[in-house]
Amino acid sequence: MEQWNLIIDVAKCHNCNNCFLACKDEYVGNNFPGYSAPQPLHGHKWFFIESCERGQMPMVEVAFRPITCNHCRQAPCVQQAAGDSVYQREDGIVIIDPDKARGRKEITNSCPYGVIWWNEQEQLAQKWNFDAHLLDQGHSQLRAEQVCPTGVFQSLKAEDHEMERIAEEQDLQVLRPELGTRPRVYYKNLDWFTKHYIGGTLVSEANGTAVAASGVTVRLEKDGVQIRSVQTDQFGDFKFDGLEYRSGDYTVRYPGSGHRETTVELIESIYLGVLNCSDPC
Ligand code: SF4
Repeated sequence: MEQWNLIIDVAKCHNCNNCFLACKDEYVGNNFPGYSAPQPLHGHKWFFIESCERGQMPMVEVAFRPITCNHCRQAPCVQQAAGDSVYQREDGIVIIDPDKARGRKEITNSCPYGVIWWNEQEQLAQKWNFDAHLLDQGHSQLRAEQVCPTGVFQSLKAEDHEMERIAEEQDLQVLRPELGTRPRVYYKNLDWFTKHYIGGTLVSEANGTAVAASGVTVRLEKDGVQIRSVQTDQFGDFKFDGLEYRSGDYTVRYPGSGHRETTVELIESIYLGVLNCSDPC
């Protein structure tokens, strides 16, 4: 049987928070019997956006990723809940039963992703339910999907083996795979949060003036072996992205009179500054 999945593209998120607002619009003050009790106006974030800053001035990048319930295949919230107060539907959606879960505050602490919120007024643990009440009425898109102006979200129904193929093909990742929860929420370009880069700017000097050296090949070596090469852009900038945190020493080689190189220990993303490749580049 096919199950619901959600793909979130980090590269497309601009932190506009429309998904957060759409979730508020859908659930605050609205009761969907069998699906969810009203979300309080304040305090709950069934969708929220995390940010990550990488690099150093002037080569700084900020990435954003929406966070919500992952509708895990092996969901700790389901495993730890008493009876069927939290359950997984055949279509993969994890529901906190708004009647059976009432008064069970311990459900709030069962999620390792921290996406369950306690509603004091309703005496109920709550989270995003994949807009199940809308899908069951025949809606083809999630609220977040409808309102996102940059197309960050893509919901799709697929069998697990098909989803594995899509994840492999599109290089999708999940949050904290080491937990073994097997989320149904997948991320594209998650490297923007988890990997690091070495960047710099090449200039050449002409008549005592430094000009951007564009189209120059820069090489990256590790342990004496070339692992990447890139060309500088029109501003003379280059960047080797997707490197592991604290992954040791790298050597950046660029042309010039003789052969130029800079060796750096990569701890986190680093900007090497303006490098003079002299003539002829
Ligand atoms: Fe349960 Fe948390 Fe997984 Fe959602 S993300 S299914 S609340 S364990």
